Amino acid sequence: MLDFVDVGRRTLESYRGVAPDPLLDAVRSAAEPLRGARVLHLNATPYGGGVSELLRSEVPLLDDLGIVADWHIIRGDERFFQVTKAIHNGLQGAAVELGAEQRSVYLSNARTNAAAFTEEYDFVFVHDPQPAAILGIRGRGSSQWIWRCHIDTSAPSPEVWEFVRPFVAEYDAAIFTMEEFVPPGFPVKRVEIIPPAIDPLSPKNLRLPETVAAQVLEWIGIRVDRPLVTQVSRFDPWKDPLGVIAAYRLARREIPNLQLALVGSLALDDPEGWDVYRRIRAEAGDDPLIHVFTNVVGVGNIEVNAFQRLSDVTVQKSLREGFGLVVSESLWKGTPVVAGRVGGIPLQMADGVGGILVDTVEECGAAIVALLEDPQRAASLGERGRDRVREHFLVPRLLLNELALLRELGAGRPFVRAEGWSRDRDPVCGMVIEGGAGVSWTLGEARHRFCSERCRALFSEDPARYLIRR
Ligand code: UDP
Repeated sequence: MLDFVDVGRRTLESYRGVAPDPLLDAVRSAAEPLRGARVLHLNATPYGGGVSELLRSEVPLLDDLGIVADWHIIRGDERFFQVTKAIHNGLQGAAVELGAEQRSVYLSNARTNAAAFTEEYDFVFVHDPQPAAILGIRGRGSSQWIWRCHIDTSAPSPEVWEFVRPFVAEYDAAIFTMEEFVPPGFPVKRVEIIPPAIDPLSPKNLRLPETVAAQVLEWIGIRVDRPLVTQVSRFDPWKDPLGVIAAYRLARREIPNLQLALVGSLALDDPEGWDVYRRIRAEAGDDPLIHVFTNVVGVGNIEVNAFQRLSDVTVQKSLREGFGLVVSESLWKGTPVVAGRVGGIPLQMADGVGGILVDTVEECGAAIVALLEDPQRAASLGERGRDRVREHFLVPRLLLNELALLRELGAGRPFVRAEGWSRDRDPVCGMVIEGGAGVSWTLGEARHRFCSERCRALFSEDPARYLIRR
């Protein structure tokens, strides 16, 4: 069995009054025909970066809607993640060489993870390239497989795309954030365009009183009585942290006491991070107004919340971007954003809503100054940005789009298990239990069989989750 991520519980109802009511009602109706369906989300890391952020919110909500949803992660060592970072960079258009040894590291990891993938689901979402080859090796079983690509693959390196293409060609459907990201000649017929979304109730985005936010920032050394610009991002060259420092230095010529915070997380599947971190530190030197924070020193969701809430401007100076959740996160707090005109960012800041789009370091510096010198304009941009996020980029909208796809893919499938299903299959992981194998447990009149003690324990915690619920 693959490693799983524990996500806790959440209810769709708790979004009432936060997300638009008609949206919540639409999500509930869309989920109705899917009750009892088993859905797996599979990715490479349980924390750090946008994908884990999304899954932490989405998986428990699917569960609340009567769908048995799990989140599993693949295993991989440092060498594997170096290869997948190269593949990621290549798919985003960097000139990357993928030698025979790197290809073999990737494939051997896919074989190991495919062997550990023993469960059965109705739908399997595979996120990004890291786990993409598992389908071809494991076989589809009785599942529908969906490749969810979060990155900008509009102009991939030909060498890397040639390697990845056959793996994704086997999927039943693919999801991209934007139409423009679909690579030329993409081999999957069913392609959906679904932008990601943020969770307004997560610790990172929930309403944090200003006094508390101020205390949090002061605690880590930020002066809240002075102007502050912040970029929150993985430490990654595509996020252009050195460009942010350069733009900040230009802005500081006009606003001498301006502080810069670079808040970056180092993710499990991102070995480049430390290297970028060292380069940032070297560039920042001993400038007391530049602050560099990481998750490794405990700067987590609440601190990010406080930074996005109390900064005068947040920056997202990406050179390439899938979506850039941080943009919606800032706008949701009413904070205006200065951001690179790339990937999914203009989607969030269309028509001048939310802040200023920039193409160069100079434009970035000038935009920071413009917003700091005109607080009224900054506040109005932030406010309109917040409305736009409420309308388009909150997690119930993402659920609605994905449920619509699942309904189409699963048309005619009996998600409500026939009585016999639970007799020959483990109701938790879906594995077929041969003869008298496994362990059993009696609930009321029914006797259930499980592949392992773990599945039995999960079932006994919450039988309703795995049984027919109509
Ligand atoms: N993030 C964080 N702490 C950090 C840096 C990033 O929690 O120090 C979060 C950020 O708030 C956002 C996600 O990581 O939720 C990054 O998602 P985004 O789509 O912006 O970029 P990605 O990392 O997926 O390229």
